[in-house]
Amino acid sequence: MSWVAQLARAEIVTLKSYEHASWDPRRIRLHANELPWRHHQDESAAGLNRYPEPGAQTLTARLAQVYGVPAKALLICRGSDEAIDLLMRTFCRAGEDAVVVCPPTFGMYAIAARIQGAQVLSVPLNADAGFTLDARALLRRRSPNVKLVFLCSPNNPTGNCLSETAILEVADALEQSAILVVDEAYIEFSERKSLAQHIARRPQIAILRTLSKAHGLAGARLGTLIADPEIIALLSKVRAPYAVPQLVLEAVTTLLSGVHLRTVNKRVEVIRSERTRVREMLGRLPGVTSVLPSDANFLLARFKDPADALARAAAAGVQVRDARGYPGLADALRISIGTNEENDLLLKAWS
Ligand SMILES: *Cc1c(COP(=O)(O)O)cnc(C)c1O
Repeated sequence: MSWVAQLARAEIVTLKSYEHASWDPRRIRLHANELPWRHHQDESAAGLNRYPEPGAQTLTARLAQVYGVPAKALLICRGSDEAIDLLMRTFCRAGEDAVVVCPPTFGMYAIAARIQGAQVLSVPLNADAGFTLDARALLRRRSPNVKLVFLCSPNNPTGNCLSETAILEVADALEQSAILVVDEAYIEFSERKSLAQHIARRPQIAILRTLSKAHGLAGARLGTLIADPEIIALLSKVRAPYAVPQLVLEAVTTLLSGVHLRTVNKRVEVIRSERTRVREMLGRLPGVTSVLPSDANFLLARFKDPADALARAAAAGVQVRDARGYPGLADALRISIGTNEENDLLLKAWS
């Protein structure tokens, strides 16, 4: 048995997946119990009366090009949130298995684990060293029941990238005892390259990417898991048969053009220069005690009186994220970088 099959839930390994109605748009479809007519206002290319292409092969191939990976190493999902959930359900036995998370970090890893009945083991980031990875503490938590280890780089909500060397060391030490999931939701805003290129030699690494952040397509709910093809094949058995709606498939396939990719690069540059400007301005405000350096499209700032800062932002009609619930961040708020005007409005409310 392969290492992936040994790691996964036995029920999933042996599961026979749902068989889609075969899909050939040139033939007459009398096999899927669809209605033969479109809604009179339906302007979609394929018709919303029809089920979408199984497995969303066309968009999968396009995203594989965009991310520079083989199509068989890529699974598209309803946001990275669904990819996280599929990993849990495929690898963690309820009441028996565990995952490792490194707080303060993205909350969905722990929530998805708890929904699946997996134990959540916490290995905090080094708060006094810029929220770096404590690789040694993490590796001490290794056990046969730890199936998934989640790292977020750049990390939400602290904004910093984790050291690539440290991540690869953890991957090497884990060998194939667990899957090391690296969430790269914000990687486009950093100077780093994706770790996806390491998967060929270290198949225990799995990468999360999303169109929700730098691509500006959060409403499309489209996230991607990039991993060893055997992991992808297992997860695709667990994913809903027609996971991505036809309207999203059509819209995103059209939107992911060369023009779009160049626009993404330009906008990322704008966000980065605004990030520098806003960080400097925040740092000068009397109520702000510190602003963490950020590789993402947000800043985490500490306040003398965070409740007052929240109230003043709200009074100016601006929402910022209350980060006080995270361990070690009892005085912190997370601020997304908006347009120049939006950022100025917030800075004015706080000055
Ligand atoms: C925003 C975010 C995502 C993206 O989630 P989607 O479900 O793809 O929108 C993933 N991971 C982290 C850490 C995030 O902050």
